[in-house]
Amino acid sequence: MGETSAVRRPPSDVRRHSRYAIGVGSNRGDRAGTIALARSLLEADGACRVVAASQVRETTPVGGPGGQDAYLNGVWLVETDLGPHQLLHRLQTIESALGRVRTMRWGARTLDLDVLLCEDGQVVSSAVLDVPHPRLHGRAFVLDGLAEVAPHWRHPVIGRSVAELHRDLCG
Ligand code: ATP
Ligand code: CA
Ligand code: CA
Repeated sequence: MGETSAVRRPPSDVRRHSRYAIGVGSNRGDRAGTIALARSLLEADGACRVVAASQVRETTPVGGPGGQDAYLNGVWLVETDLGPHQLLHRLQTIESALGRVRTMRWGARTLDLDVLLCEDGQVVSSAVLDVPHPRLHGRAFVLDGLAEVAPHWRHPVIGRSVAELHRDLCG
C-alpha cells in the first residue's frame, strides 16, 4: 500500500476531549457499592472515561439537617466529548437510576454527582449549571479529593490552583 492510501482526518474532524472533575457523594444504603455502580454506568457506552479517581473518604455531613449519616466522598477525572450540560444531564440520569429522589437540598441521598471544574478553564453560568461549582473552594471534602487527582488545575475565577485552594482551606 502506498502512502496515498493513508487516511488523514481534516482538522475539523479531530475529536477534542475535555476533562472534568466530578464530585461523588453517598450517605445512604450501600455507599461504596453505589459509587462503584455509578462509575460503571458513566463509562458504559464509552462517551465518558474515568481517567483518575481519588480515594473515597468518609466525611461528616455539612449544611443539611442534623443527625445525618456519614458520607463517602470522592472525585473522578472524566474525559469526554460531551459538553458540560450534556454531562450534567448524564450525571442526573445516573443519580435517578440509582434511586436518588430529590427531596431537600443538602439532605441525605443515595448518590450526588456534581460537576466541579473543567481542566480547560471553562466557566459556565446557566439556570441549571455553574462551573466551577460555586462551593468547591469552601469544602474540604471536595478539595481533599480534587487535590489528589488534579492539583495543577486552576480555578478560572479565583485564579488559584487546586493545590493552593486546598492549602488555603486545610493548611
Ligand atoms: P451543592 O450544589 O451545594 O453541592 P447539592 O449537590 O445537594 O448541593 P442538588 O440538589 O444535587 O444540590 O442540585 C441542585 C441543582 O444544582 C441541580 O438541579 C443542578 O441543576 C444545579 N447545579 C448547578 N451547578 C451544578 C454543578 N456544577 N453540578 C451539579 N449540579 C449543579
Ligand atoms: Ca453536592
Ligand atoms: Ca448535586
